[in-house]
Amino acid sequence: MKIMKFGGTSVGKPERMHQVAQLITKDDEQKIVVLSALSGTTNALVGIGDALSKNDKEAAKQQIEKLQAHYNNFIKELVKQPASLEKAKAIIAEHFEFLNIILKISFNEALNKDILAQGELLSTKLFCVYLEEQGIAHHLLPALDFMSIDSNDEPQIGSIKVKLAQILKQHATTPLFVTQGYICRNARGEVDNLKRGGSDYSASLIAAAATATACEIWTDIDGMHNNDPRVVKKTLPIEQLSFDEAAELAYFGAKILHPASIWPAQHYNIPVKLLNTMQPDAKGTLIVEEAATKGVKAIAAKDGIIAIKVKSSRMLLAYGFLRKIFEVFEKYRTPIDMITTSEVAVSLTIDSNMHLAEILKELEPFGTVEAEDNQAIISIVGNELATTENLLSRLFDALKPVPVRMVSYGGSPHNVSILIPADQKTTTLQLLNKGLFNLD
Ligand code: ASP
Ligand code: MG
Repeated sequence: MKIMKFGGTSVGKPERMHQVAQLITKDDEQKIVVLSALSGTTNALVGIGDALSKNDKEAAKQQIEKLQAHYNNFIKELVKQPASLEKAKAIIAEHFEFLNIILKISFNEALNKDILAQGELLSTKLFCVYLEEQGIAHHLLPALDFMSIDSNDEPQIGSIKVKLAQILKQHATTPLFVTQGYICRNARGEVDNLKRGGSDYSASLIAAAATATACEIWTDIDGMHNNDPRVVKKTLPIEQLSFDEAAELAYFGAKILHPASIWPAQHYNIPVKLLNTMQPDAKGTLIVEEAATKGVKAIAAKDGIIAIKVKSSRMLLAYGFLRKIFEVFEKYRTPIDMITTSEVAVSLTIDSNMHLAEILKELEPFGTVEAEDNQAIISIVGNELATTENLLSRLFDALKPVPVRMVSYGGSPHNVSILIPADQKTTTLQLLNKGLFNLD
């Protein structure tokens, strides 16, 4: 069993969907194909939810109509036979009728999740109409029948495994399954999701649950690159990464993969391949247990970082101080990304300002508290960095003109992170591309 996940741009145009159908029928291995919503759809659905949350029904209605028109155009090119077109029209009508009913009832968060789920439901159902027209045997697996999260929003891998196995057993001879990424049920049994970009996570969870031979993530770029192609001119795809390296890169800003999607594959030791739908023969990136080589592999940047510093002479020789500080972040469910300490101060970073005011207030009793937003974390990721010759000297040579505010080294053998003002990000990524990879 192999898992193949296709992102929004890979299914965003009728001709791309046709190409996906070709890619999934290239070999005979049994497959579960996981699809995202067509590109732009989830953003549009977020917009509709936002308008409704502000009770702006007129704006929501307009956005629904615009989206429906997009789908009605899409199917004209997707299928040819009148009977298929009718089926596709009926699917669109059903889902947009649902959105129009929501317009009439009072909005709440659970309903918002239902709205967000329409994208993946539409893409998978329409794709199946095309497969049927092409005579490609398949079965649509509703993700809501097996994908679930608990009350902490964590996927319930045990239950996913049991449920998926039961369903697959009923269709043992089916060569091809199609399912939705992103959507799931929560602990209350309501429709929920795995957060933005969550289809990768779905694919990895399904790969783990089905002990797949591989989890292929198909996007519009030929694998993970050594630097951000939107910021620096020359970047190169990375052939092989270890799970640990890939997790650091995904977490610290490489947009190609949802950060949580590494752990299920890693835990069940399932190779992950990042491949390009537009260039299916390109090597892409293979993510496995072992790193191929030693040394620096890539640089990634994460914006929107807030630095918080707590300074207190009471910290001197005290124990339990850090625990008390961490408890504040735990209370507000705010993850800490980076941390550095001196004997009298601790600096740390977070990437959400959702509870910033409360956090700062609760930190006040511990000392002088300073917060600064508009920071960026630059992560240098690789294998056995500590024993890589001259790494630190090359790194700091390249960083000479940059006002580095924090440095985190030694937390893992795979990562050195620095904190800089966000307006220095472009320059820093360029300087490091030259200094560490000798690329412009
Ligand atoms: N459609 C969802 C999103 O745009 C999930 C995904 O594509 O991975 O975030
Ligand atoms: Mg994505």
